[in-house]
Amino acid sequence: MFSPSDFRELFQPNYCERRIWLNANCPELAVKDTDFIEMVQEKGLAIEKTHVQTVGPIQEPEYEEGDMPAGYEDTLRLIKSKVPIIYQGVLISKDGQFGAIPDLIILNSKTNEYRIQEIKLATNINNHQEIELGVGLSKFVAEEILGYPTITEIVTGDGNLISPFDAPDKSQVVTVANKIIGLETLEKEPVEPVGWSKCKDCQYSDYCYGKAWENRSICTISGIEKGMVWALWENGVDNWDQIIKLGVDKLYGIQFQRGSQIQKIGPTRGGKIFRQTKCLVEGSFDKKAEIILPAGYQKGDRPIVIFDIENTVFDELEFDVDVYMWGLTTILPDGTNEQNTIIAPPGNQGDAEGWTQFLETMGRIFKEYGDLPVIHFSSHEVTKINNYIAMFGDKDGVGERVKKNMWDLYRCILDTVILPVPSYGLKQIEKFVGFERSQEEYGGSWSMVKYNEYAESPDIETADKILNEIKTYNAEDLLATYAVYRWLEENIC
Ligand code: SF4
Repeated sequence: MFSPSDFRELFQPNYCERRIWLNANCPELAVKDTDFIEMVQEKGLAIEKTHVQTVGPIQEPEYEEGDMPAGYEDTLRLIKSKVPIIYQGVLISKDGQFGAIPDLIILNSKTNEYRIQEIKLATNINNHQEIELGVGLSKFVAEEILGYPTITEIVTGDGNLISPFDAPDKSQVVTVANKIIGLETLEKEPVEPVGWSKCKDCQYSDYCYGKAWENRSICTISGIEKGMVWALWENGVDNWDQIIKLGVDKLYGIQFQRGSQIQKIGPTRGGKIFRQTKCLVEGSFDKKAEIILPAGYQKGDRPIVIFDIENTVFDELEFDVDVYMWGLTTILPDGTNEQNTIIAPPGNQGDAEGWTQFLETMGRIFKEYGDLPVIHFSSHEVTKINNYIAMFGDKDGVGERVKKNMWDLYRCILDTVILPVPSYGLKQIEKFVGFERSQEEYGGSWSMVKYNEYAESPDIETADKILNEIKTYNAEDLLATYAVYRWLEENIC
């Protein structure tokens, strides 16, 4: 039976038809971040519970777990008895092909008609086609059963009610459902270009991207987009070596599709792709331009501050705080370093407290070392500093002073060097420069799970233990950034 949750695999974390086939045929290849998934589910359930408590007395159908027909029968009984609010009722289409368990089926006492209400963790459903289609499915199945047009509503993760919600109609829902069913039953895995940003958060990344990297697929060349991959495949070009064999001149002029437009690989892009491919084939780097170090600094000059933040990324997770970790390490002229990791306390004062501690710490560092460069990786830190100044002010102008001294390592790499890496993210570059971490598990979602565990710790000992793990992770992020900075000084200056 096809249910609303079946839409998810096609659209999340991004649109991919291959994932549908893999899920149906080789689910053992999936590598799931179970801790993160469980945390998201727990947050979702908490939001659902909070909302359900506000709607009044509810009734649930009684049936043995998994026995959908029995659940449907009992839901029909509740509907016929005009129970005002049915929680997790089971709805099945007449042909038995579609089933849905909407969160709430609510009776309007004036019209005597039921409406469907779904509770979602997402605060913004604009990029969630799977939610829209899922609600559309619940709607058309409900209409078959109830016999009248049914209003649908969504309660979002921040408590907003979208009513009525304009759900896709039956034909749209069935078209996508049939597409998914068709993909599941294909004999062979569908051909689908991989891509670093497309695949990095997908549970099949190790399998798909790993295989593509091993085969030196053109999909793994930074700068090649999906439309170009199809065009190059049509030209018989499948791997790095074939790009080199094709030659830079023949790369120019290859036409590819981008959205509804046809474009050509021009000399600038073609040149970049060719140089990137050469680096991959040779496993070496290529200097593009002279490096510009932080103002007034020469190779080897210290002190510098390495700066990295961690924030919650998904508003839906309702951590109360956004930036939960402000990581700083000051590298001194004698090569030693001073670590200052600020962990925002949980709760609704956490954001302001974390920011205050960050300003105090940076104020102290400036007082001791003057205007030293603040090295960070990508524009993310600047954006957050701007947000926090706007939200909580800038005591003694320290935030502005930090901004004035910030120096973006990521920008510098893009401007000065080509590296033999699949992506120019820190985690890939640090591996290339030979940096090794001590923790096996790390990354943005790992640290979010840990912060959540810290916020919900039952006692101080547990909280301290988790805090130390988070601090180690952050310290290693900072040292990885420093290792990349040093590599640039030694190899590009
Ligand atoms: S790893 Fe990439 S290609 Fe493979 S299923 Fe996931 S998104 Fe699709």
